[in-house]
Amino acid sequence: MNILVTGGCGFIGGHFIRTAFSAEGLSQLGFNPIADVLINLDNLSYAANPEGLVELDSCASYHFIQEDILHEQAILSILEKFHIEAIVHFAAQTHVDRSIQQVDPFVQTNVLGTLSILKACQHYLTHAKDIKKRFRMVYVSTDEVYGSLASSVAPVTETAPLKPSNPYSASKAAGEHFVQAWCNTYQIPTIITRCSNNYGVGQYPEKLIPLMLKQALNEQALPIYGNGLQIRDWIAVEDHCRAINCVLRSGSVGEIYNIGANQEVSNIALVSILCRLLDEYKPRTNQQSYTDLITYIQDRPGHDQRYALNTQKIRQELAWTPIISLEQGLKNIVLATLDA
Ligand code: NAD
Repeated sequence: MNILVTGGCGFIGGHFIRTAFSAEGLSQLGFNPIADVLINLDNLSYAANPEGLVELDSCASYHFIQEDILHEQAILSILEKFHIEAIVHFAAQTHVDRSIQQVDPFVQTNVLGTLSILKACQHYLTHAKDIKKRFRMVYVSTDEVYGSLASSVAPVTETAPLKPSNPYSASKAAGEHFVQAWCNTYQIPTIITRCSNNYGVGQYPEKLIPLMLKQALNEQALPIYGNGLQIRDWIAVEDHCRAINCVLRSGSVGEIYNIGANQEVSNIALVSILCRLLDEYKPRTNQQSYTDLITYIQDRPGHDQRYALNTQKIRQELAWTPIISLEQGLKNIVLATLDA
């Protein structure tokens, strides 16, 4: 399978690519580095970490192309030149706080960039009819498109209405609508995944977990929005990438799959776990707990209270299940951060 990955220098895309080139890639995804090619297209925005993939530079089946997904003609040329059979579309502007400050890049990349890929696929598959039968485009979306859930409400299934309530989630939902429209109108074989909050090694330090670890290790305040009781479902990035592999290999065209680990925890509880792990593995010189650094700050405008996903569909239909517990996954990040 020749694969185009967009945003492969980002946090999740980077993990996905490294998995493809590992032994797991062949067994889970069917990606064969001897016979297939993987193209990583990324415009190297502020969140990119190309150094995370240097080990692949000498690999003949890996190609990095610095390009913006808005350039439809460039995408089309890549699809044609490399006979692409699958796209995993990660490229996005991803930080909610930035979307609140300046929405334009979110509309550009997450909406118009997605449309540009869809139009390139439309043109490509008109001429590559043999490839169209096996072609798949996976749009990597987020649980945030469902909007905020009350604590009394059961986790949502894929049929729940979309109610995005911040500029980032609105742009991801808008991208989803175009993906579904192109699947329905032009028969572009697309699949949508909606995943919960990812954590893992290599995340850009503006995100909650790496930010807290950086601040704590620098003996600086750990800023918590509002009362810290906002609830998120956290999943290890490795489990998310395995789920995308399953979807790419066995998912049904036109379908949507929720991906989550059903590990709901409040932000303050999550940061407290990080503090406990740091207390254990790198005690402060003053012997106080890192929790003493926690500082409550003014809440984010429109902050969603809770996200929670029902993941029965992917578990039952594709036999995927997460394998990394939150405690183990957080311990892995803390130890990796201390090692770095
Ligand atoms: P990230 O911000 O770490 O990486 C995004 C990558 O996309 C970067 O390498 C960036 O350079 C690239 N990019 C941005 N704009 C581009 C453009 N116009 N053209 C080409 N490349 C561009 O993001 P991430 O956390 O790895 O998230 C990847 C995807 O997964 C996103 O679509 C996001 O919405 C989705 N998602 C993320 C999470 C999460 O918790 N991180 C959860 C669910 C879904």
